[in-house]
Amino acid sequence: LTNQVLQLLLRWRRGNPLFVLQPWDDGSCRAIADGLEGLIGDTPLVRIRSLSEQTGCEILAKAEMLNIGGSVKDRVALEVVREAMAEGCLKPGGLITEGTAGSTGVSLAVVAAGRGCRCRISMPDDAAAEKAELLRALGADVRRVRPVSITHPEHFVNVARREALAEPGSALFANQFENLANFRAHLRTGCEIWRQTRGRLHAFVSGAGTGGTIAGVSSYLKSQDPRIKVGDVRATVLIVVMLVDPPGSSLFNKVKRGVLYAREEAEGKRLRNPFDTITEGIGINRITANFSLAKVDDAFKGSDREAVEMAAYLLHNDGLFVGSSAAMNCVGAVKAARALGKGHTIVTVLCDGGQRHLSKFHNPEYLAQQGLVPQHTGRDLSFVE
Ligand code: PMP
Repeated sequence: LTNQVLQLLLRWRRGNPLFVLQPWDDGSCRAIADGLEGLIGDTPLVRIRSLSEQTGCEILAKAEMLNIGGSVKDRVALEVVREAMAEGCLKPGGLITEGTAGSTGVSLAVVAAGRGCRCRISMPDDAAAEKAELLRALGADVRRVRPVSITHPEHFVNVARREALAEPGSALFANQFENLANFRAHLRTGCEIWRQTRGRLHAFVSGAGTGGTIAGVSSYLKSQDPRIKVGDVRATVLIVVMLVDPPGSSLFNKVKRGVLYAREEAEGKRLRNPFDTITEGIGINRITANFSLAKVDDAFKGSDREAVEMAAYLLHNDGLFVGSSAAMNCVGAVKAARALGKGHTIVTVLCDGGQRHLSKFHNPEYLAQQGLVPQHTGRDLSFVE
């Protein structure tokens, strides 16, 4: 307020016609972004009004669809490439390879374009065609391979690894599941959450795909004094990290069995079957190097129906158009609110927007085929079990 009074006085002395302060003129504008990479990270934390009102908790979400490449994966792509270039493993003109059917490919293509690198993405040929088209439009070379098990040499991840090995010294295999640059990228996400809430939060809830988000954020948050009496509410609750796990994923059981910190033998374990769930990007059946660093206290299961209903609910009540993992994360936030009780602040992540999901998750015909047309209307949250 003092600052505002000071500004008013200065304006008055300078005869400034914009004498009356406007609500948007509070000095909180973002700094100038330095090129493309300045448009990655530092995303707003949005208060989801409907969920907050209905649960009696503050439900806050990182709006990751606002990254320049449209998803949370921009942070990972940037950190992977930045570290590789800093270590001299990758130079402008060099090749970045990755095996992915998800947003990581798009994020790598965006960062590669900014750094003058080439990008080659291998993906199974049953992945949505629009993804391959977007990647090609961004200048990436797309290799479609037939869907086989991770143990098979022709699995898209193994193809990407081999392609990088074929250009020794100038190519980088991004390797998002095992590369800990992913985890380090999300230490920053955790730091942003800590600063944006001024340390006044009680829980962080997220699904896990590579585990980078939940590992980085939980590690940062728990590195702050977890016994701190948080904020005005003087709550004594520690920061709880909760996982929300889609059908077909086995992380829920692993958390519940308490074997989180033991690295499992990845050999021979199949990746999540993509047909087990409609959610994309979360759920897995092995402990990745990134997930092994997660400090998870509890886990919930989320169903495809809950995710679909949540996406429709957020669009209808808040105008927020979100992707499937973001919707599942919000389901998790509601379950966390119920578990903790009213008056708590719960943070989650909106991984990407609905635009990336027009052929499946937001496609009425596809949902009808799956028997998943949203049924719920109104503002109550009875569809969350
Ligand atoms: N949502 C989407 C859309 C994703 O692509 C991913 C990454 N696979 C996730 C969520 C999960 O994030 P993480 O890999 O950090 O666990």
